[in-house]
Amino acid sequence: MSIYCNIFSTYRYIIVLISSVLLIMVGTTDVIAKKTSYDNKKIIVLDPGHGGRDKGAQGINGIYEKTISLKLAHIIEKELEDQYNVFLTRTDDYQLDIPCRIDAANHLKADLFISIHSGGSFLHKASGIYIYYYNKISGPKTVSGNVTLKTIKNNNILIQWHNIQNKHKIKSYMLSESVKNRINEYIKFAKCKVQSAPVLVLSGADMPAIFIETGYLSNPAEEKEIDDAKVLSDFAKGISKGIEDFFQNK
Ligand SMILES: [Zn+2]
Repeated sequence: MSIYCNIFSTYRYIIVLISSVLLIMVGTTDVIAKKTSYDNKKIIVLDPGHGGRDKGAQGINGIYEKTISLKLAHIIEKELEDQYNVFLTRTDDYQLDIPCRIDAANHLKADLFISIHSGGSFLHKASGIYIYYYNKISGPKTVSGNVTLKTIKNNNILIQWHNIQNKHKIKSYMLSESVKNRINEYIKFAKCKVQSAPVLVLSGADMPAIFIETGYLSNPAEEKEIDDAKVLSDFAKGISKGIEDFFQNK
């Protein structure tokens, strides 16, 4: 399922409208039962990083971060869709700004927000898989590609957004740990580590939220791994199991 900032409210109204029409037309408890079971499923928003002109990091062999993030998001969606209601912030190669990604998750009242990325560095030796949870620090540094805090000009709005994710810091940390442990079970080319950082795309999320970097595209050896279908499938399994562990430990 996909979500778009500007049509978001419209989408929800369409769902309500369709449900109402179905109830009127069919009028059976079956429909009500199905609707209830849909409503009871937890909502997970997957956010494939970058898109369109914003290519993200680029590997020496020409692999773009925006392509890998979308590919992986679709594989994770397949892993999760039987058990959860899964939405993607983008389903194709187009640009999407950061507030739009977070707004979508907040409007859905999502239970989890997971932003998917790969790393890039001028140092070809830079390597590793990282999971970040939000931690506010002073200064304009962020961990979200080319986006800086200048993106949001209104400082008051920015402070409020930071406060939103701060409420979920412990749970976001716990989610990071659960997903890290499972990724380390499935992925062998690098060790996954958890770090905290003022990641802009997480800052306004009103739910546990993490930012995953699936290795460094700028590192030729890791670029090869990250673009491998089996590795992507293993990432999806690790992330899905980590999500399951997180909900069970609650
Ligand atoms: Zn990125």
